[in-house]
Amino acid sequence: MRIDILTILPQLIESPLSDSIMQRAQNKGCIEIHLHDIRNYSVDKHNRVDDYQYGGGAGMVMSIEPIASLIDKLQQERSYDEVIYMSPDGDLLNQTMCNQLSLYKNLIILCGHYKGVDERIREHYITKEISIGSYVLSGGELAAAVLTDAITRLLPGVLNNETSALTDSFQDNLLSPPIYTRPPKFKDWEVPPILLSGNQSEIEKWRENKALERTKKRRPDLLD
Ligand code: SAH
Repeated sequence: MRIDILTILPQLIESPLSDSIMQRAQNKGCIEIHLHDIRNYSVDKHNRVDDYQYGGGAGMVMSIEPIASLIDKLQQERSYDEVIYMSPDGDLLNQTMCNQLSLYKNLIILCGHYKGVDERIREHYITKEISIGSYVLSGGELAAAVLTDAITRLLPGVLNNETSALTDSFQDNLLSPPIYTRPPKFKDWEVPPILLSGNQSEIEKWRENKALERTKKRRPDLLD
């Protein structure tokens, strides 16, 4: 899979994508991530990428030309499954969406700044708008990093044990059951004895029950 991230602050997104699982995924060739600085496509001699709002009002707007020429260039090179804009008024990101996006080959992710991008970019270039939650960030970079991470860990070969993404929360619409490791007793807090019993089918049943119990209590909406 290939993801092209369009931003005016590439340095903001480099670090979260260059460590741990994200780094391994790229080293193993499971994913290629390309960061593009929108500023390099500015049509202005001062390298500006924003301008005042028509109609007045506080806050700058990201200009149409640099973003359009960058997307045009990329689309001439290959075809993209989705051109995504990170935006607080987009579809709320969830695991089902990540699963779907992880099946694609090429994605563009556009990060906004200031008040956001000129609406004509959204109308004519963007095919999908995604929000990572009902709050406002200063820029789309952290949101793009969240989306890229959530997709990447689903790609075949990225996690050591491929089943481990399947047993995470939200797959099957259930939260994860509680987990424990050594020691079996700390202070007087004991690990549930069933987990030490070696009886795998009973352990699985216990985990399913706990997952259901936790989902009912914390996220009943997932069971609807
Ligand atoms: N004026 C906009 C907010 C702009 S915030 C509004 O009221 O809707 C600047 C940029 O940060 C946005 O263009 C978007 O790319 C990013 N952003 C902010 N909050 C976000 C969120 N919850 N999810 C995804 N991207 C977000």
